[in-house]
Order: sequence, then structure tokens, then C-alpha cells
Amino acid sequence: MLFPIALVVGVAAVLVLWLAHQRPPDTQVPARVRHTAMAAGWTFGAAVSAGLATWSVPALGALVGEPDGYPLPLVGALLMLLAYIHARVLFLDVGRWAYLWASRAPERHDRTWRMEAAAIGWGAVGFAGMGAIVFSAIPLGGTAFAFLLVPLAACLVPLYETWLSPWLQFWRARKLRDTPHAELDAWLAGLADDKRLPRFRVRVHEGQEKNAYATGGMFDHLVLVGGGLATGMTTSQLKAVLAHEVAHVIRRDIRKLLVAIVVGGACHATVLVHFVNPNLDHSTSMGFLLGMAYAGFAAPLAYIVLPGLVGRRLEYGADRLAAELLGGPEQMIDALDRLCELRAEPRDKKSLAHPTTDDRIDALRQLPPSQAPA
Ligand SMILES: [Zn+2]
Repeated sequence: MLFPIALVVGVAAVLVLWLAHQRPPDTQVPARVRHTAMAAGWTFGAAVSAGLATWSVPALGALVGEPDGYPLPLVGALLMLLAYIHARVLFLDVGRWAYLWASRAPERHDRTWRMEAAAIGWGAVGFAGMGAIVFSAIPLGGTAFAFLLVPLAACLVPLYETWLSPWLQFWRARKLRDTPHAELDAWLAGLADDKRLPRFRVRVHEGQEKNAYATGGMFDHLVLVGGGLATGMTTSQLKAVLAHEVAHVIRRDIRKLLVAIVVGGACHATVLVHFVNPNLDHSTSMGFLLGMAYAGFAAPLAYIVLPGLVGRRLEYGADRLAAELLGGPEQMIDALDRLCELRAEPRDKKSLAHPTTDDRIDALRQLPPSQAPA
């Protein structure tokens, strides 16, 4: 029954995407068309994912349901791999690519196909690995323990995404000295000596992504800079971006964010064990609904809102320290301005994990101008 529905919905979405694509290129795409294309893109992704699930889920069920059975880690790996392919690749990625094609916005597709392939490949490896780890833990405990697996899996994902995956994807990417901003290498080296910084490496993506971030790592910290910043910013602006990311490294912000995620996971586990599990055990429909409502309410609080609120505070702190490293807030303000320009984003755009650019610039302006580097 699901397949015909997915087929009809998918064909309808393709029609809408095709109509949106019929605009002449090089014209400003109106917001209405962009939103329609976005909705149609996600709908198309969901239809592809659901349609293929009618085949892949029973196939996996038949495979792991054999009487002799597979070892639990293998079942876990296959399950997580399937979930990853359906949720991340078929739904999110295919949906995003369809939207970008329909809205004729190649400038928004700022990742190269090689980057997309590396992200998907390492994501698949990582999720299969995490499935194997989580499922190996199943024989250790009873039902309450099984409820701990959800937050455990939810904590493993950010750990993998921040500590391992960026290294796997980008350790061979360009270094600063391979860009027009080679002089920043010497500045960073001097900074590292002066301030006895923790070890970190800088890598510059191919593609045109307009962001930068610092991540933890197994050995060193890794600062990743999108290719769009390397080409679109002056060396002085990029220096400010690097100062901000190095500030995250110095302040050990990545660890703080991971702690917030793990604390969120622990809170979620408590809710699942104390509220959801008992209610599901009573197996009344009211209790079931209540339990699911608790679980549904707690998950975004635990994994998105709490780390998001912590992340916001960390941004102000990193901006402040960056201004100190740069000897004054002016370069940082200029870089934030340029970032908005490159992304074609309004300065008051809100997001959960980042304060608005206006708020960050206001906070920077409160600092004394051009103080001597400490
Ligand atoms: Zn930051």
C-alpha cells in the first residue's frame, strides 16, 4: 500500500520540481518559487525513501530473521546503515539536490560532488560502526537498559561527527599555504608559540562553503575553513575567522558542547526510563500516548535546545577572545559583515546555536577598541 502512495506523491513532486526548474536561468528566483521547490524537494526525497523502504526493510527483516540469526553487532550495523541511507541520503540529500536543481541555485550547491561522496561514505561507515557498538550492549541488560540505547546512540552520533568524521573527510584537504592566504600560517604559528596553544591543524575545503568550524579530534584539534571563505574574504577577514575558531580551541568549547550533549542525553535517558518505560509497560492507550508525548517532548530539548543554548554563549566568548588575539574588535566585526554578505543572509537572521550577527557585532562594539594584544 505504501509503495503506490510513495509513487504518486513522488511523481507529483517531480512535476512541481520540473515546473519550478522551467524559469529562465540567471534570474532572481522569487522566495515563493524557492519555498515551493524546497517543499517539493523534501517531498520527493521522502517519497524515494519511503518507496525504497517497502523493499529494503522486508529484505533486511528476512535477512536478520533467519533462524540461526546473525550476531547482534552485525544486525545493529545493518539496521543503522539502512536507517542512515533512508534518512540521510535518500531523504535529506536527495531532497536537497532536487531542491537545488529545481530552484536553479547552483551557487547554493557549494559542496563538490567529491565532498558529498566522502561525507556519505564516511557517514555510512560511522553509522554502521555505531550500530554495531550499540547492539553489542543489548545482552548486558533488560528493558530499562534497552531504553538507554536511544540516548547512547544519540550521543555517539555527535562524538563521531566531531571527533572522527571531519578527520576522515578532510585530513588530505588543502592547507593554508596552498591558498592565497599563506601568510596566515606564520601568524598562527607565532600565536601558538606565544600562547602555548593546544595543537591544531587548519584545512581548507574544496568547494564554496561559506563557513568555518573547529572540531575536537583524536590527536589534534582541527579547524576547517570552507573554500567560499578562502576565495571570498580578504586575508584580514579570514584571519579574524581563524582567530574565532582558534578561540574555540583555546577555550575548549567543543568539549563543553559535547558535555552539554551528553548531559542532554542523560536527561533524556532519565525521562525514558522513569516516564516513558513505565507508561509503555502499563500498555493502556492513554499511558502509551503520554509516554510517547514525554519522549517526543524531551528529545528536542535534550539534543537541540540545551546544546543550542550552550552553543550561543560559546559564540560570544569566542568572539571576545578572538578580538583579544587580533588586538581589537574591528577585524572581527568586518569579517562578520562579510560573512553575511557572502551568504546573502540578513544580519538579524536567527538560529538556535548562533546569536544573530547584529547581536554579535553589538557585543564586540562593547569591547574597548584596538587594545594591545594580551
Ligand atoms: Zn563559533
